[in-house]
Amino acid sequence: MRKLKNLFENNKRWAARTTEANPEFFKILSMQQNPEYLWIGCSDSRVPANQIVDLLPGELFVHRNVANVVVHTDHNCLSVMQYAVEVLKVKHIMVVGHYGCGGVQAVLNNAKFGFIDNWLRHVGDVKEKHLAQLNTMDEQQRLSRLIELNVIEQVRNVCRTNIVQDAWDKGQELTIHGWVYGLENGHLHDLSSVVTCADEESDVYNKAVTQVFATAGCG
Ligand code: ZN
Repeated sequence: MRKLKNLFENNKRWAARTTEANPEFFKILSMQQNPEYLWIGCSDSRVPANQIVDLLPGELFVHRNVANVVVHTDHNCLSVMQYAVEVLKVKHIMVVGHYGCGGVQAVLNNAKFGFIDNWLRHVGDVKEKHLAQLNTMDEQQRLSRLIELNVIEQVRNVCRTNIVQDAWDKGQELTIHGWVYGLENGHLHDLSSVVTCADEESDVYNKAVTQVFATAGCG
């Protein structure tokens, strides 16, 4: 398996199918990309960005990391955001968590996996911040709610980057969204965490953190 032949065969079939459906597809796409959306999601293999929102290559700019965290010192994530907002001029950024997230679960269980624990510490901070609310819930609800709260906090972090603030200052049309994907049924849930300008950010955040969406076993 030095060459992963099966994946190259898959690739050939996919390219042939795609070309059959639209002979110009790759030719046109190779010349430019014009996505309207930046998706910031979890690395989990069950949450493939383009497939979930049924968009073709070229339509979605993507950054993924474990537990969909946006940190103001993460040059990787910030570079993706800066290029997406300032060069590609995407109109929407969505932070997308998912129910059953193993990264968030690890935080709730105080599980230790090594180096990654440092990264998940950011989710641990979200847990501590909202501990009073989480402590009123049973185990399943607590996981789903922390997954939601983590998205809400990351939406706030996106809004507070100088990239998004500068775009809004310049009058650029840019909306930030917070969503959670259900592994059990493939549906996206909108957390009503929608911010279209700097003035809205605090109100949207305050409403979202107090409004509980999570239901036990939410899928
Ligand atoms: Zn995850």
